[in-house]
Amino acid sequence: MNAKELLVQARAQGRPVLDELSGKSLLAAYGITVPQSLSVRTAGDVDAAFAKLRAPVVVKIMSPDILHKSDAGGVKVGLKSAAEVKDAINTMAASPQIKATHIDGYLIEEMAPAGQEIVIGGLRDPYFGPLVMVGLGGIFVEVLRDVSFRICPITRIDAEEMIDELKGAAVLAGARGRKPASRAAMVDALLKVGGEKGLLMTHADEIKEADINPMIVSETAAVAVDARFIL
Ligand code: ADP
Ligand code: MG
Repeated sequence: MNAKELLVQARAQGRPVLDELSGKSLLAAYGITVPQSLSVRTAGDVDAAFAKLRAPVVVKIMSPDILHKSDAGGVKVGLKSAAEVKDAINTMAASPQIKATHIDGYLIEEMAPAGQEIVIGGLRDPYFGPLVMVGLGGIFVEVLRDVSFRICPITRIDAEEMIDELKGAAVLAGARGRKPASRAAMVDALLKVGGEKGLLMTHADEIKEADINPMIVSETAAVAVDARFIL
């Protein structure tokens, strides 16, 4: 299914949000890098899936009822064997918080190369139309609200300025012995989301909110490891 069909189908089915896997297919359709992944229904399906992926992998709960997977104990990173993946799934399935929800399955995905976490978001303003947002991940966004916004479509210069405007810009550039986050990869991702032919402009009528949280940016690449779309 292509990106447009995915959105149309979700809307036709009255689904107000895209699940993580569909969200990532949508991002991939716009050239944004997402991890290789496979979904399984139960621990019994793990061996076949694991064999097709490059370890280490991450396991995530897939449930329409769970918004913050880690808060629910539904994310386990750095798993090196099929046995570890099965253990993680069995532990999740047994946890009271997860047991009480509808479980679609489990997403097994490759770990993104290590890097700094940023957030790219989108929302729709009733007057200005789609807006694109960037911020540093974790406490920078959640506590310090260190984000910058632009009205779409953005140009390359806008994308550069959005990054430079962040109070944490020096952190991204590699302050205090950190590995710098690839500026080219961040600009590229911002354009794919908020540029003229980007995701938000193309689907302005369908997408109410977009949240890539986080995108992991290494010295060479930016990988969207979590995606949420509200339609
Ligand atoms: P949620 O936001 O619902 O708790 P995420 O999918 O964002 O779940 O995963 C939680 C955290 O786990 C991420 O912020 C990131 O630090 C880490 N993580 C998730 N997926 C990957 C991945 N593929 N590679 C590396 N780290 C990941
Ligand atoms: Mg997340």
